[in-house]
Amino acid sequence: MNWKHTPIILPLFIASFVAIYVLVYTWRRRNMRGARPLLPLTFGILIWLVASTIEGMLIDEAARLLWINIQYIGIVIVPTAWLIFSLSFTGRRDLLSRRNIALLLLMPLLTLAMVWTNAWHHFFRISLELDTSGVYPIWIWNPGPGFWLHTLYSYILLFCGFVILVQAYRQSSRLFRRQIIVILLGAAVPWLANIIFIIFPATPVDYTPIAFLISGLAIAWGIFKVGLVEVQPIIHKQVIDEMQDGVLILDEKNRILEANTAVLNVLGVTDTIIGQPIAKALARWPELITELHGAAFTQAELSLPLDNQEIHHYQISITPLHDKKGLKTGQLIMAHEITHLKEIETSLMEAAEAAEAASRAKSTFLATMSHELRTPLTAIIGYSELIEEKSEMLGYEKIVPQLRQIGIAAHSLNYIIGNILDLSKIEAERMELAFGEFPVAELIAEVVNSVQPQIEQNSNVLSVNLPEKIGVLNSDKAKLRQILLNLLGNAAKFTRAGKIDLSVSRDSESGYFEFTVSDNGEGIPDKIKTTLFEPFVQADASFTRVHGGSGLGLAISQRFCHMLGGSIAVESALGQGATFVVKMPIQPPEDAIVKVDSAVLRRQQT
Ligand code: ADP
Repeated sequence: MNWKHTPIILPLFIASFVAIYVLVYTWRRRNMRGARPLLPLTFGILIWLVASTIEGMLIDEAARLLWINIQYIGIVIVPTAWLIFSLSFTGRRDLLSRRNIALLLLMPLLTLAMVWTNAWHHFFRISLELDTSGVYPIWIWNPGPGFWLHTLYSYILLFCGFVILVQAYRQSSRLFRRQIIVILLGAAVPWLANIIFIIFPATPVDYTPIAFLISGLAIAWGIFKVGLVEVQPIIHKQVIDEMQDGVLILDEKNRILEANTAVLNVLGVTDTIIGQPIAKALARWPELITELHGAAFTQAELSLPLDNQEIHHYQISITPLHDKKGLKTGQLIMAHEITHLKEIETSLMEAAEAAEAASRAKSTFLATMSHELRTPLTAIIGYSELIEEKSEMLGYEKIVPQLRQIGIAAHSLNYIIGNILDLSKIEAERMELAFGEFPVAELIAEVVNSVQPQIEQNSNVLSVNLPEKIGVLNSDKAKLRQILLNLLGNAAKFTRAGKIDLSVSRDSESGYFEFTVSDNGEGIPDKIKTTLFEPFVQADASFTRVHGGSGLGLAISQRFCHMLGGSIAVESALGQGATFVVKMPIQPPEDAIVKVDSAVLRRQQT
């Protein structure tokens, strides 16, 4: 051991420890993308450094030679490992087949064989002698063709790795470029050191491994501190560039890290926007910038006027990106063009509007027609009653029943036409409401009075449950009367020798009156329960012939209830009667009034 040489080997000594640290650090993070290819490189540098340090500490020539030869294990690993690192770092792993790696290792193995057997052939070193006359011992040596072969090969590999990185630099975005530059500069250090050593071989120590360590450190910094390889610049770029959807990646400061070709084409910008703050790069689209300020996942639809003045529609999804500790590291923005879908949506909406207009036209036609039918019908009813009276007076009793039939049929037709008229008015939004205050007891008395004959027809009994001082209701009395008459009429129609109940209650807390009409008649079959309030729905067509009716009464009642701000519900089981509950607000809801006003307004305008 020669401590006298400490000053010149100290840098090698320190560098060895740094190399051990880098190796352990890299090994611990070997599962991070890009870390593994760095391991052989660091390993090679470490062998080189340790062997150089030990060699520098020895005096004995034979022992020093042994450690020089050991150094060569590291020396031959480094260029090969460098090339492998460059290829895998830039995503060209396809070139790293086993066969290619074996081919790459041929020359290093041959070099090692030459170095270790040099004493027999002197092909690697023609002569080698330790000059101990100076302060520090210096190797005086004459390299043989084997050495030059090895040097040439090493330089070719180093050069190839360098070129591959330069290419990656040119293809990658501006932010990655800065980091690749760090690696390239790091990689240039050993070149300089090595060139100096070859030009001035008579130096006591070869510091080339330190230079390699510096480059190893630069690469490790690039990988672990900047997270460069985690983004896998090249592969990543190829994949997202092929995508039809636009992809934008922002860093935590909202600078554009990546923008694929689709985004650049759509926005009509070049990749100079990469590295710029998004607010500056996309200043023309402030809506997009506003969406980006949210922290959570967002989906939005954006309409962008592009250069050709056409509006294009995009479905934008913005996903915040986080690191392992949950800190926000940026945002991923994907843009999917939906212009075509939007066009379809617009044409569907137009079609729906046209259909609605047609439906309104139909309702208007029906309303007018019904009105026109009613006029002659009123004449028929009036004249048949007149003739009936006259016939009785003149003693033509025989024809009185037929004349009465005409009257009944005409009334029934009038009722159906009345319903059709109501429904078509509602659907054409021409039904007018007349709100006003009235005592509920008065309404009930009117309803009971006019429904009584129908109730008695089928030998039913009506019981009314009306609390005293039930109070007043502000609604459309005529419409409410029509609803209750329809419900009681149905109860009378579908119940025989049974009991029909009408009860009224007031819930001031909820602000509603409740009218309940129940019977113990036929009940309603399940098959029509769900469609009961749709027009023209009846349990049985044969019923119609027996009971009359058109299937419009409940449809109209439900629409009236809704217009008045209330609701209607039914409970029934076949054979167990039916219960209808109508809820009416004590005061008319604001939108009900608005609805009426707009309906009236529309009518006045047309
Ligand atoms: P219609 O003019 O036929 O009575 P509605 O719309 O008032 O028209 O009633 C539709 C159908 O609902 C009736 O045809 C009947 O089948 C059923 N229905 C309504 N109320 C009752 C009830 N109280 N009991 C049994 N069935 C009922």
